[in-house]
Amino acid sequence: MRACFLVTLRKGALSHRPPLNKASPKSAVKNPVRHPRGHLQAALIAPSRHGLSEKSISPGARTVVSTLQQSGYQAELVGGCVRDLLLGQRPKDFDVVTDALPDEVRRVFRRARLIGRRFRLAHVRVGREVIEVSTYRAKPDSEENDDSVLNEHGRILRDNVFGTREEDVLRRDLTVNALYYDPGSNTIFDYVGGFDDIHERRLRFIGDPQERLNEDPVRMLRAVRFKTKLNLAFAKGIEGLIAQNAYLLRHVPPARLFDEVLKMFHHGYALNLFNLLRHLGMFAELFPEAERTFTDTDLAPDTGLVCRVLKNTDQRVQQGKPVIAAFLFAGLLWRAVCLERERRMGHGVASYPALQQAAVAVIGRESQRISIPRRVSSIVYEIWELQGRLESRRPRTIHRLLENKRFRAAYDFLVLRSGAGEVPESLAEWWTQIQEHSVPQQQEMIKALNSGPARNKRRRPRKRSNEQSKQGT
Ligand code: ATP
Ligand code: MG
Repeated sequence: MRACFLVTLRKGALSHRPPLNKASPKSAVKNPVRHPRGHLQAALIAPSRHGLSEKSISPGARTVVSTLQQSGYQAELVGGCVRDLLLGQRPKDFDVVTDALPDEVRRVFRRARLIGRRFRLAHVRVGREVIEVSTYRAKPDSEENDDSVLNEHGRILRDNVFGTREEDVLRRDLTVNALYYDPGSNTIFDYVGGFDDIHERRLRFIGDPQERLNEDPVRMLRAVRFKTKLNLAFAKGIEGLIAQNAYLLRHVPPARLFDEVLKMFHHGYALNLFNLLRHLGMFAELFPEAERTFTDTDLAPDTGLVCRVLKNTDQRVQQGKPVIAAFLFAGLLWRAVCLERERRMGHGVASYPALQQAAVAVIGRESQRISIPRRVSSIVYEIWELQGRLESRRPRTIHRLLENKRFRAAYDFLVLRSGAGEVPESLAEWWTQIQEHSVPQQQEMIKALNSGPARNKRRRPRKRSNEQSKQGT
């Protein structure tokens, strides 16, 4: 039973939003008690129940909240930081929400910068921290309002209608992300039962889930991310609903999906997330060609190349090592590019240009779903292209290869491919050794290549004499 919360949401209350947008008088925004139709009330969670203290939050976030409050505004922490603290995890960042409009935030803080178009907010610098400060949002109820725009599918294109906290809570995606924490009074405000959901480790959308997914299909990706990252369970019906609505991801701007994909795959739980995305049919929406071309071997747990790439990414994140987007895309799209290259070679294109053409074609098709910035795609091409050069080990190119800016990423990929049985382990081992050796030892290894049987010589096809060609031999 929900012991702690008290919500009275009168039907239709939302459609009678007071006119609180940027042109509204601030007094109307500032006092939720006077909100004429808002019948949504918060349960106040006391410190003895939530266990947080002012010390739980970063000094920068504390400063931003208290400065806003001292300037006469309402301000709290909200979202992932409150959720993560209650779950005993270290928050990634601290988001502040306020009734101050973005321009007012800029006036309060000397070091504030306004960003975003779809969702305008301020970045406030405090020491080395950057705190994101957003203004309470309200549900758009009029298409005439040019600060909130829905398209014909009910999708939110811009979300800049400002409102009260009582309205803001209903614009948030999941109940666990909708807790407001005021460090000054050490109180949590819970309007939608998020506190209980955290304790029951349950992910529940706020409002009508279908409508919320129509408004913004990225909420499905967020739900899957939090489920995996925080080991939570979906509330009843959510899994099926997401599977049914996975196709909505096709309508999300590809640039936004790039950011979301990195958030999902670069936080240390990529393999579990990949399995869940595939289970729900979302991976096929994000990477259609990869999904179509994966072989059973690629997907084999432990040994398959895809699993090895994702596990390796997870290990690096856990060890605090850097991870790059290009490596992820290179791994996920490798089979697709190999097949495309074979297809082109089947049409008589030589191996190297076939790979180049295949790479451009595969990345081009993928970019229609997830836009891969050029700074990333150029590295993906290099990682792929270097595979052939690492495999052929032409003595005169070895030193240059070792100095190549992408050598390390390409080598790491080769090692994963060798573990997956795509190239001999001895080849990967050779490249491991040569990096560890001194220059004279390296020369020895290269010399041995010329004479030894170990080298995978890439012979140029001998020019056929006219006579042979004619005979077809
Ligand atoms: P984390 O920062 O750990 O990734 P988060 O929940 O804080 O998780 P942010 O992207 O920082 O994620 O967003 C802050 C808050 O803004 C969320 O907790 C949620 O309340 C709200 N929010 C973010 N994206 C959406 C969205 N697409 N739809 C509705 N609410 C959202
Ligand atoms: Mg956050």
